[in-house]
Amino acid sequence: MEQTFIMIKPDGVQRGLVGEIIGRFEKKGFYLKGLKLITVDQSFAEKHYADLSAKPFFNGLVEYIISGPVVAMIWEGKNVVTTGRKIIGATNPAESAPGTIRGDFAIDIGRNVIHGSDAVESARKEIALWFPESPVNWQSSVHPWIYE
Ligand code: ADP
Repeated sequence: MEQTFIMIKPDGVQRGLVGEIIGRFEKKGFYLKGLKLITVDQSFAEKHYADLSAKPFFNGLVEYIISGPVVAMIWEGKNVVTTGRKIIGATNPAESAPGTIRGDFAIDIGRNVIHGSDAVESARKEIALWFPESPVNWQSSVHPWIYE
């Protein structure tokens, strides 16, 4: 089954949106396979956003991500990478549809509350970076009530 890496950014933690965000993924039917509250340092944040290192907003982005604790998560389910991105909404909250996390809870692109992997391959890399320890192996007992 597919997995994705989801991170509630420091603004989401500060604003008390952790429960709301976890609830959206849980209620959809995805399975929580990893979870931790963690503060990362500059070199770790730069590694996570290495693909964006040439962007003019890179330094500000790194400052934002290291400015407070984040909630790092692994979520699992069918098409969870693509569907997770739909639940999150467009990068710029000004363009995120109402009903999406960014559409409902964010205003500015540099304070957009949440990160989600953009592809299966980047999800694999991000999970390896953020969860070097072995993930807990558990199966949900409601699986047949969600999947046909
Ligand atoms: P996404 O997070 O939707 O995958 P990107 O990978 O393009 O989007 O960008 C990573 C993060 O960098 C965004 O979520 C946002 O926090 C920040 N960002 C992207 N574009 C800008 C910008 N033009 N100005 C400021 N921050 C930006």
